[in-house]
Amino acid sequence: MLRSHTCGELNIQNVGQEVTLAGWVQKSRDLGGMTFIDLRDRYGITQLVFNMATNAALCEEARKLGREYVVKVQGSVAERSNKNPKLPTGEIEIIVDSFKVLNPSELPPFTIEDNTDGGEELRMKYRYLDLRRNPIKRNLELRHKMALETRNYLDSQGFYEIETPFLIKSTPEGARDFVVPSRMNEGQFYALPQSPQTFKQLLMIAGYDRYFQIVRCFRDEDLRADRQPEFTQIDCEMSFVTQDDILNTFEGMTKHLFKNVKGVEVEDFPRMTYDEAMKYYGSDKPDIRFAMKFVELNDVAKGKGFRVFDDAELIVGICAKGCAAYSRKQLDQLTDFVKKPQIGAKGLVYLKFNEDGSFKSSVDKFFDQEALKGCAEKFEAKPGDLMLILAGETDRTRKALNELRLEMGNRLELRNPNVYKPLWVVDFPLLEWDEETQRYHAMHHPFTSPRKEDIEIMETKPGEVRANAYDLVTNGVEIGGGSIRIHNKELQKRMFTLLGFTDKEAQNQFGFLMNAFEYGAPPHGGIALGFDRLVALFGGSDSIRDYIAFPKNNAGRDVMIDSPSEISKEQLDELGLCIRQTTARKAIR
Ligand code: ASP
Repeated sequence: MLRSHTCGELNIQNVGQEVTLAGWVQKSRDLGGMTFIDLRDRYGITQLVFNMATNAALCEEARKLGREYVVKVQGSVAERSNKNPKLPTGEIEIIVDSFKVLNPSELPPFTIEDNTDGGEELRMKYRYLDLRRNPIKRNLELRHKMALETRNYLDSQGFYEIETPFLIKSTPEGARDFVVPSRMNEGQFYALPQSPQTFKQLLMIAGYDRYFQIVRCFRDEDLRADRQPEFTQIDCEMSFVTQDDILNTFEGMTKHLFKNVKGVEVEDFPRMTYDEAMKYYGSDKPDIRFAMKFVELNDVAKGKGFRVFDDAELIVGICAKGCAAYSRKQLDQLTDFVKKPQIGAKGLVYLKFNEDGSFKSSVDKFFDQEALKGCAEKFEAKPGDLMLILAGETDRTRKALNELRLEMGNRLELRNPNVYKPLWVVDFPLLEWDEETQRYHAMHHPFTSPRKEDIEIMETKPGEVRANAYDLVTNGVEIGGGSIRIHNKELQKRMFTLLGFTDKEAQNQFGFLMNAFEYGAPPHGGIALGFDRLVALFGGSDSIRDYIAFPKNNAGRDVMIDSPSEISKEQLDELGLCIRQTTARKAIR
């Protein structure tokens, strides 16, 4: 070992000991007679002192050490006169006898501090320097602990961790595949897995009973703020189980993680149907840290001569407790908020239940006090409350009100990142109508089973079929999702037909799975949790990128290794590929 201790472990108990440390120069302060250097490694920071009076030559040498030089030092541990209570090593310092530069360093392009001066792009280019910073280090430590506790829990429940291949055939889960050309089979391609879905089902058919994998998945989607083209899932599958068994097992795992990683006991997860989630929260991933449930007003608000309400399919609102004193300006801000194109409401109606018991609204022309009272009663409003109401086509209005509810939750500070409220959303529809392609898509994926009682209406009323599918949602974020699978060839075929596959296409792409169903497939189901997102949630952040060691940027590029990049003509030839000249030049940099 090049060292006797790390930079994070020495304290007052070690005073007098001779030690050897190795690490990076965090910073150096030259106070004339004395030079102080903070030496850093993954474990912490230890102060080194060099004294001009006792060893002038060494002190001169130490002054030449630049930031991020890698050095090995020998010396003795001494009690500090000027203690730093913020550091675990803050009571001691090392009086250095000798040191050796193991490697010098260029001046880093940004400061290696908790609050660095480096912008995002620069930090990504020099990610190995960014990774030296404490905030990122803490995030990766959290990620490690969560992976470990995941394995501990699943092992205790009898799961095997089994690897599945990365070079596979496409699995349609709603995104585009990344493909890899095969040199040995010219003109043919592998696809990188969007998830190990079909393989984990095959493992169940093989009798492995309980499988998991902390696994990389690849989806070639247009990148949104919180998406990465490659991301990690905790992927699981179980045999001979009901939906409840799966929910209980993974509720157990989530609680285990909260308890063992964060020291937080979370309550039992409520279960809400998809229909309830949409009706009361306008979202299939409701944030239930706060109430403010939707209240529908069609029966009390129609027929008063207000066209917007009379023509609307749905009139629905929320009640913001204690906000009746909102000013004109605040109400205008909320109106502007809902009218933003991405939210898309045409306007906002407010109703104030004043402290004096009277009502004031933006539709007083059509609603007298009695009528306003009728609305307020629906909200179970109290004096001092403010009701915010939207009207229009059902789905769009609910969607817009969901945004407004979350905005009010933010404004009223009801979305505390240290409070965790997980829930299960169940009974998702099996299919989703896609306007663009004018056909049905699987809402979860094509292997999800319909509810038994809905199988008979699959062909006649496909839009009404419910699935044995569920999502795990926490604080408004979808953490995971899964389903009980189809394990019967005929039903799987019907599903593919509904999705617009010809028999031949289905056989071509999924013949291997459907054939396997004929060799004793047990009933099975599973779930996958988004690991990056789960770690970010535990870390109290929205950004998954901060929890991935080497993430890609918003354009899907790794700016450090400069990837994706062109390949040589020889490589292309060997693969039997040719690139359109125009495309090559257009590639985004
Ligand atoms: N394979 C699914 C997904 O990646 C999860 C599952 O159904 O288990 O979303």
